[in-house]
Amino acid sequence: MNLAVLDQRISECRACPRLVEWREQVAREKRAAFRDETYWGRPVPGFGPPDARMLIVGLAPAAHGANRTGRMFTGDRSGDVLYAALHAVGLASQPTASHIGDGLELHGVRITAPVHCAPPANKPTPAERDACRNWLEQELDLLAPTVRGVMVLGGFGWQALLPVLAGAGWTVPRPAPKFGHGASVTLAPARPDREPLELFGCYHVSQQNTFTGRLTPAMVEQVLSDTARAAGL
Ligand code: SF4
Repeated sequence: MNLAVLDQRISECRACPRLVEWREQVAREKRAAFRDETYWGRPVPGFGPPDARMLIVGLAPAAHGANRTGRMFTGDRSGDVLYAALHAVGLASQPTASHIGDGLELHGVRITAPVHCAPPANKPTPAERDACRNWLEQELDLLAPTVRGVMVLGGFGWQALLPVLAGAGWTVPRPAPKFGHGASVTLAPARPDREPLELFGCYHVSQQNTFTGRLTPAMVEQVLSDTARAAGL
């Protein structure tokens, strides 16, 4: 198994009936508005090199963003903020992301999510989150030789990621570390083939946060830089 095979398997998953129906319904209804594009309408796999030292974990694809383009955080306002910040700190080859094939490359960073299908109202159910958990565990297992830093966007991603990390070979302290913007914690290895992992929290780059000024580009760039430094980038 390698990441390319894993990504292909994820993109064919149909384990969650509600999410399969939603992602395909959105694609059917919106296809006409984007007639020059192929509307993805499937699970969105992670994006970035297979030897990434740093991982960014969001929530789930947006209905008209990644669910449309097939690439994480690509094609919506959240992605505009994230990719501009990644470029500003030297982790992306360009400040914008519009579609697969736009030339964008990430430098040492991979972006993924605990839920790979767009959920209605951006809210997966606990059962859907749990159904998708195995995909992220496998991704972490494949990235474990190189990944040393994780930046988590938002409290949902943080809550969803902790049990995945525990299942993938790291020790999660008890009580569980709380999410917060700028929060950080070091997870010790629970297996001999794992290295310590530095976890950083960042408010989600959603419009709800960026339009209100709760999260500024400088705040995103700061957590990106902190995580990159911890990851050895
Ligand atoms: Fe499969 Fe995850 Fe999508 Fe559910 S959310 S259908 S487990 S890829």
